[in-house]
Amino acid sequence: MPSRKFADGEVVMGRWPGSVLYYEVQVTSYDDVAHLYTVKYKDGTELALKESDIRSQSSFKHRKSQSSSSSPSRRSSSRSRSRSRSPGRPAKGRRRSASQSREHKEDKKKTIQETSIALPVLVLFKPSENNTKRYNGEPESTEKNATSCITLEQKLKPDLEIKRVLEQYSLRSRKDDKKKEEIYSEKKTFVAVKPIEKVSTKTKELEFGGRIGTFMLILVLPATVFYLLLMCKQDDPSLLNFPPLPALESLWDWRAFGVILLWFFLQAAFYLLPIGKVVEGLPLSSGRRLQYRINGFYAFILTAAAIGVLLYFEFELHYLYDHLMQFAVSAAAFSLALSIYLYVRSLKAPEEELAPGGNSGYFIYDFFTGHELNPRIGSFDLKYFCELRPGLIGWVVINLAMLLAEMKIHNLSVPSLSMILVNSFQLLYVVDALWNEEAVLTTMDITHDGFGFMLAFGDLVWVPFVYSLQAFYLVGHPTPITWPVAAAITVLNCIGYYIFRSANSQKNNFRRNPADPKLANLKFIPTATGKGLLVTGWWGFVRHPNYLGDIIMALAWSLPCGFNHILPYFYVIYFICLLVHREARDEHHCKQKYGLAWERYCQRVPYRIFPYIY
Ligand code: NDP
Repeated sequence: MPSRKFADGEVVMGRWPGSVLYYEVQVTSYDDVAHLYTVKYKDGTELALKESDIRSQSSFKHRKSQSSSSSPSRRSSSRSRSRSRSPGRPAKGRRRSASQSREHKEDKKKTIQETSIALPVLVLFKPSENNTKRYNGEPESTEKNATSCITLEQKLKPDLEIKRVLEQYSLRSRKDDKKKEEIYSEKKTFVAVKPIEKVSTKTKELEFGGRIGTFMLILVLPATVFYLLLMCKQDDPSLLNFPPLPALESLWDWRAFGVILLWFFLQAAFYLLPIGKVVEGLPLSSGRRLQYRINGFYAFILTAAAIGVLLYFEFELHYLYDHLMQFAVSAAAFSLALSIYLYVRSLKAPEEELAPGGNSGYFIYDFFTGHELNPRIGSFDLKYFCELRPGLIGWVVINLAMLLAEMKIHNLSVPSLSMILVNSFQLLYVVDALWNEEAVLTTMDITHDGFGFMLAFGDLVWVPFVYSLQAFYLVGHPTPITWPVAAAITVLNCIGYYIFRSANSQKNNFRRNPADPKLANLKFIPTATGKGLLVTGWWGFVRHPNYLGDIIMALAWSLPCGFNHILPYFYVIYFICLLVHREARDEHHCKQKYGLAWERYCQRVPYRIFPYIY
């Protein structure tokens, strides 16, 4: 058993994951099993680091004492003095002229200033209060234009730059070429990719009300779905008019269960088709990137073709309307079985493959939030598959079934205007999600949350059976609306969609390629992780503009159901609660990741979702 080198409370220099930067940190604890130190940075950020990423302060102080100045520019000249004593020093005859030398010095000074943008903490051998800003990625100028990323990358590119910076600060032995290569390869990725967020370790902060909260949610979520479906079938779905409970045996239908299984495996077969591009996800804590096939939209087209064939042969799709409860029960049973399988297999998963948020060691909590981050069977990614396909495509199929049921039950030759609006708005939402499938790879569900009951039930039961509530409601509660009202609701939906889509695209494009010329007009706050935080455009309007757009759309989906009952507004009410809670979770993660830079962003953009309200 290797013994630990650093004690709790000791102040040491910790490497920032994915970079060559060392900060002053304090050791707060040590995990004997994972051999990881939990260290706290000055801004409160806590990370788990390997022993090899920690150095004693004395090793830095020793190097610093070789330089007579702490100023970068003066240090550069002192280093050139020291270099002149090195064996690599050019022969006298090859020395530069005075003007060349001046130019060279100017050049070097410039380089160091520019480098300090990307390497804000290299100067922190002895951090002081004065440089706390740089500590958090806020160098001299706190806002950058997106084009400055190009300059940054160009300036950092040559070996010479890396060599100069590394030599200047004595971060390695100059003779150690192998090590140089390693550091260089890390450096190259500094600006372009998401840095390693956190080495997977025990989850200390429990969300969703901890063990009791997650236990309650496991019971309450399915109960809510069944309650809503029962209410929708009532003639008077007033809140206090509780529906009579159906006989237990009437809830189970093997045929419905068979259809659910068939549906799941049909979508899985579409997912496995070798069509569509393969892309890489964001780097995992190990630095590895998983590959994902982007063919959700093709799966949707194939499903639409299959449904078209069924309808052509007069398959009664409205069967779904009559047996929606049985289908929901079957889907819930399936998602429960899937969650149990996911938890059992996660027990054998290596530590680094566990979810940062679902590794508490408490069975109920980990079962609910998801223990394993990216469970895969071969190349089949279970979480990514479930995120958008069976549930989301299932939702539009249920909506279509409701439309057909309405026509049949009310003997209509065309569906009602309300039903057309609800179907069209939600179809647009689903098609958009599948068309932009790649964007799901940067969401919290994929990068942070494990795959457990929460996502399995959410994706396979909650989304298809609760999100289709308005269409289900309209079948039993016809709500005529006029054309002007329909036009006004459509405009509202379009506004919501525009905000939602452009905000998501702006952030995704910026994350994927910050040097994209299309984003040149946007400003951002640089952070110590190398990623910027947009402060103009949509992300300068509120801190979650995409949520705002989503909520506006949710309202537009409920309005066609009129104002007789609150039931069809369940979605928009629930969705506001969900997104407010999700926003708080995201803020918490961003605060941990970006420290003071995030606080600056919050000062600059004070409202979270609703401008001037929240
Ligand atoms: P977001 O797409 O909102 O992403 C949040 C992340 O964006 C942060 O963690 C941070 O990650 C990055 N970020 C935050 N601020 C900035 C900034 N100023 N500049 C650049 N990057 C920033 O997360 P979600 O996964 O919650 O949502 C994705 C979409 O899915 C949303 O449109 C949401 O409405 C929708 N959604 C829909 C649901 C539904 O049931 N219909 C449920 C949940 C979400 P980092 O810095 O690490 O890149």
